Amino acid sequence: MSRATKPKLPQLLERKLSKTGQTRGADDDVIFQNRVSRSNTVLIPFHQWQVNPQLRKISDQFECGYIVLISPTDYFSKDNPMNYIAEYNLTLGENALVFYETRADWDTYFPDNYGWTYADSRQAPLGGQFIARVPANTSIDEIRSQKVNLGYTTQSLKGAGIRLYEYASKKTIRECRLQLEAIFWLCVDAVEAMTNNGMSREEAELRKRLVLEEALAHGLCDFEKLRSKRIINSQNHTICPLCLRELSGEEFLNRLEQPEGREVPDLTVTQVNLFHIEELKYGAFNHRPYNLGWGCHFCNVVVKDSGIYPTLNWMQEVIAQNREAGYLK
Ligand SMILES: [Zn+2]
Repeated sequence: MSRATKPKLPQLLERKLSKTGQTRGADDDVIFQNRVSRSNTVLIPFHQWQVNPQLRKISDQFECGYIVLISPTDYFSKDNPMNYIAEYNLTLGENALVFYETRADWDTYFPDNYGWTYADSRQAPLGGQFIARVPANTSIDEIRSQKVNLGYTTQSLKGAGIRLYEYASKKTIRECRLQLEAIFWLCVDAVEAMTNNGMSREEAELRKRLVLEEALAHGLCDFEKLRSKRIINSQNHTICPLCLRELSGEEFLNRLEQPEGREVPDLTVTQVNLFHIEELKYGAFNHRPYNLGWGCHFCNVVVKDSGIYPTLNWMQEVIAQNREAGYLK
């Protein structure tokens, strides 16, 4: 039996799904890369590396390697820093860098004093021993108040890597994408929505069937599990994990109306966002199929990095306080 090819999705939805494999945005003054693949070089704070033997054990599985970042204060707190970090299998310039973030550290442990150069490669050898992202300050001394951005600042090398918790292997990225598309097709009106946006009904129905089959073949799309994670409801329709509202396929394509005076140039913001069921945090890789759903843009903003249940508890408190004070009946 020959396998039918999947009809193309409308471009806006295709782009929305592809973006799920990328990290969040980052500006020039931070060390993180801006919207790149989640399989890129991982940046690991030294403290995490130190306390987490499991992380050290799996570190050779990061597909584009890792760099451990240690603060000058930590590094120079030992009489023999090189031996100290070597105990954790770290070598400056190979898989570790000293990371300057404060003016005090920059002045106290000025890298020139140690003959250091700044690093500019994401693979060993890293090309130097340190990187710096020291913000400008309001000192009267002009030179001393300028910001210091050294290492990974040129166009092709902007940012040293990605946040540890954003990491996912290429395989996981593909599975997440597949499951997220399957969840999209579980929206109550997904086929109609796509028919209104450039696909024929036959194409939309075929793509829906093929994607759901493919997801099942990969051991994904377990409805019971999706329900327990608040991703779909008892009718197997896609819902927002916070407010539990059924989502419409149309919302995946509509651009969010922006409040007047607060227009931002990012027109790719839509009403429905990628939603992490468990919040992003160090020590866990949260880009995995059953931790991802779709939700309202505003619910996503409210939950942000706090998690669904802490957010619900907070909302309950807000309501209770408002009742008690008589603002709300
Ligand atoms: Zn919602």
